[in-house]
Amino acid sequence: MTDFPVFDGHNDLILRLLRGEVTAAGVAAGLPDGHIDKPRARAGGFGGGMFAIFVPSPEDKALRHDEMRNASYEIPLPDPVPEAEAAGWTARGVDALEDLAAAGAVRICRTATEIEAALPAEEMAAVIHIEGAEGIDRDFARLHDWHARGLRSLGPVWSRETLWGHGVPFRYPSDPDTGPGLTEAGKALIAECNRLKIMVDLSHLNAAGVEDVARITDAPLVATHSNAWAVCPHSRNLTDRQLDMIRDSDGMVGINFASAFLRPDGRMEAEFGLDIVMRHLDHLLTRLGEDRVGLGSDFDGALVPDGIGDCAGLPDLLDAFRSHGVGDALMTRITHGNWLRVLRRTWGE
Ligand code: ZN
Repeated sequence: MTDFPVFDGHNDLILRLLRGEVTAAGVAAGLPDGHIDKPRARAGGFGGGMFAIFVPSPEDKALRHDEMRNASYEIPLPDPVPEAEAAGWTARGVDALEDLAAAGAVRICRTATEIEAALPAEEMAAVIHIEGAEGIDRDFARLHDWHARGLRSLGPVWSRETLWGHGVPFRYPSDPDTGPGLTEAGKALIAECNRLKIMVDLSHLNAAGVEDVARITDAPLVATHSNAWAVCPHSRNLTDRQLDMIRDSDGMVGINFASAFLRPDGRMEAEFGLDIVMRHLDHLLTRLGEDRVGLGSDFDGALVPDGIGDCAGLPDLLDAFRSHGVGDALMTRITHGNWLRVLRRTWGE
């Protein structure tokens, strides 16, 4: 058991289950590929994290990572997904998480205290997160249902447009000020999440959307999987103004391992040194302070640096942090302490 178990802001393992690529039993026993399974989580000190339920676009409109290898790019965003289709998919995502729990791979956690207890356990701590909220109806009936089943975190948009607002496109180089933010319905959703103490995720919102959330919520502002725009000027990353808003709200940022959001040249290519991760860490620490930086891997959703590879490679990242001067107290904060603090403030328990 490591002294520094990682609680992580974002992964897309559920998408693999919903696509039928893997089974809950397979996740528990070990998988030949991908970034997360139970044996590798144990080996790498991956104690758990936010497990995202993401509704994919039709296969022919799926996000093309290869276009992100160019020197500059703007990936066309897919069309909105119909509510009924998204609702069915999201419900199956909650089922998939319950299957993972039944298979002994995860423990679904609803409070920071439950996460803290699960981090050293055999099973991964899993917080149910919805990335893009197309499956939620205007009356919030499904929001309340899923909250009752454990939903504790939600992003009102994945970059694709929804009833709730406009997301940020995948554009490099670009700042995140790319268009209008939340709709009136979206503002009502944020207010309802605030009332239910569901965390609202800023990742995938554009600049106007971030300002909208900040005006409505009184919870800490959190970007679960985003990086520093000052280091990598990608539309998905956070400008210094946004980082200052997050600091002032006493929220936090999870460092995203997606190569295109780390590399200063914005390319989705995995061959580069972890020194680039350290540049984001330094900028985020300078801007946010030591209490407001954590990890948000994007495992199973992105091309991560070869130097990390998968969740079993986390010790190599922690070694790089240590070589960079991160001591025990800060290591505790980055790996899980800051997430526990911010989630406890958000959820009240
Ligand atoms: Zn994402």
